[in-house]
Amino acid sequence: MSLIVAIDGPAGSGKGTVTKLIANRLDLQYIDTGAMYRCVALKMLEEKVNLEDEEKIKNILDSIEIDLDGSKVLLNNRDVTKRIRSIEVSNFASPVSAISCIRTKMVDLQRNLANGKNVIMEGRDIGTVVFPNANVKIYLDASPEERARRRVEQNEKNGIESNYEQILNDIIERDTRDMSRENSPLKKADDAILIDTTKLTIEEVIEKIISIIEVSEK
Ligand code: C5P
Repeated sequence: MSLIVAIDGPAGSGKGTVTKLIANRLDLQYIDTGAMYRCVALKMLEEKVNLEDEEKIKNILDSIEIDLDGSKVLLNNRDVTKRIRSIEVSNFASPVSAISCIRTKMVDLQRNLANGKNVIMEGRDIGTVVFPNANVKIYLDASPEERARRRVEQNEKNGIESNYEQILNDIIERDTRDMSRENSPLKKADDAILIDTTKLTIEEVIEKIISIIEVSEK
């Protein structure tokens, strides 16, 4: 039987970094569902799609191919790994991901990607909607200020210019939208384990999660 580890939480909670490292250590397939919504957002921006135009959205969804293999994100065979991390795409991914037909398609893709494999999947609705029966469910959180600080640091590393106040405002706005949307809002599953990472190092968070996974396998 395959192992499914679901990691949910808001932007900057440490999900990405921690999930990738755990995937490497435990030899699990890493699936970044945020990258998938970012790819759709990028495509919608490029095609200048009005988010009220359901028919156009459905046509575009039919022509989208997302490949998350390895360390690159490919959108219709084009390397968009860096492009999807821009502030413009980050902010647009949130309204895009509130659209019902987009979520349905992404959830299908996510379940297919995980089929028969041992996976660790990070997102907003993995423990609540995509895999309500996941073996392990973790909800990572941290204060908005700490999350904004981490985003600024991460952007600097990736050569993306950013401003702390603007990032903090964007994070708060994005979380409020993600938590209050009708479709699969960001929320902790009742049976998920909450880890507040504000004062923890990456290594401490990883150790906590690995020990939870190990207990679940006994
Ligand atoms: O995790 P990341 O910040 O890359 O996600 C970008 C956006 O995609 C989030 O702000 C959220 O609106 C959306 N998302 C989602 N459901 C997921 C993963 C991401 O709605 N499972």
